Amino acid sequence: MDDCLFCKIGKKKIPSKLVYEDEEIFAFEDIQPQAPHHILICPRKHLISLTDANDEDAAVLGKLQLVAAKLAVARNLTDGYRTVLNNGRGAGQSVFHLHLHLLGGRDFRWPPG
Ligand code: AMP
Ligand code: ZN
Repeated sequence: MDDCLFCKIGKKKIPSKLVYEDEEIFAFEDIQPQAPHHILICPRKHLISLTDANDEDAAVLGKLQLVAAKLAVARNLTDGYRTVLNNGRGAGQSVFHLHLHLLGGRDFRWPPG
């Protein structure tokens, strides 16, 4: 997707604070952090949202969560952290390239807003 912000970040056409990358996934600091630690973890494949994903994407969707867990350990988020995947405008999605938020470093309320 030539006009996708997160595809451009993944291809390093737009700068970001990259914190992790491999062949399938890249992760970078959120530009408007909602917690002391706020990282976005994306598949390189352009999926719009979970609704756009298929069975063939199962492994990479699982890997997003595992990368989040590893980053949380690396950042010593021992007291807890949250992973969030907003699907669709009504759920707060604003960038339409699937991404998992990793948030940590503060207390979180339930239910989320
Ligand atoms: P969502 O609202 O779930 O689609 O999340 C999109 C996130 O992308 C928001 O938390 C934004 O702050 C973040 N964001 C938007 N543009 C950039 C950018 N250029 N670099 C890093 N994060 C961004
Ligand atoms: Zn994209």
